[in-house]
Amino acid sequence: MEATGDSAPTHAGAWADAALAGRVQATRERIEAAARRAGRSPEEILLVAVTKTLAAERLVGAALLGLTVFGENRVQEAHEKRERLAEIASADGVAARALLHVRWELIGHLQSNKAQRALSLFERIQSVDSVRLAEALNQRSLALGQRTPVLLEVNVGAEASKSGFTVDDVVESARTITALPGLRAEGLMTVAPITPEPEGARPYFRRLRELRDQLRVVAPVDGGWRELSMGMTDDFEVAIEEGATLVRIGRGLFGERPPLRSADDAAVGA
Ligand SMILES: *Cc1c(COP(=O)(O)O)cnc(C)c1O
Repeated sequence: MEATGDSAPTHAGAWADAALAGRVQATRERIEAAARRAGRSPEEILLVAVTKTLAAERLVGAALLGLTVFGENRVQEAHEKRERLAEIASADGVAARALLHVRWELIGHLQSNKAQRALSLFERIQSVDSVRLAEALNQRSLALGQRTPVLLEVNVGAEASKSGFTVDDVVESARTITALPGLRAEGLMTVAPITPEPEGARPYFRRLRELRDQLRVVAPVDGGWRELSMGMTDDFEVAIEEGATLVRIGRGLFGERPPLRSADDAAVGA
């Protein structure tokens, strides 16, 4: 593969600027402090770097700083970004080595007809929001001979603008989904309503944890629904106090992000 026209940087410093390094470090320290406050081990909490709308080049910097899990919310965008990263990697050994360890997770709404493409791009789907989507992912996973890790997204705040199972139907749906042999249900995910203070999100995070505890009893799975993906830039510390095992952070790491492009597939959050 050919390098693109731009002269490719050849050392780590060219990819990772000091501002990014500082924010990554500060975010890690805040995660650790929140975990300690809650009497938890910081190792229980995985930082998912939300890279939506960012240029691929910035992801190289993130990977070089040790961020190894990237969250994207659109299939098409992730596909284009990964093509670009493959080009970068073929021209730059330092970037290639850093990118080798990156895992990708889908955190945005997925249409059932894109299940196959999503499986070719993402190692875990955090945003399973309907039984129909779960069934499509199950069928495609079985065809690939794999068991795909998934989280069930719950719209805890019952907001019309958000996707996800309702608090009322997630239990029933979880029973159906845990019976699908091509999927491995690992936990729950939510995007809390926007509130003026981080504390305002606490009841939603607590509710997600309670739902998880309920599922452990009524829809048991190996691994015990371990993962709780909750908390973003503005509220991740509260989420950690309430039991988050995955925090999805974008702006806190990368600063304000460029706006979304015109929607070529459905976007969430933003
Ligand atoms: C954009 C997004 C995030 C990250 O949001 P920030 O406020 O930038 O941290 C997390 N989760 C989902 C589902 C998102 O769409």
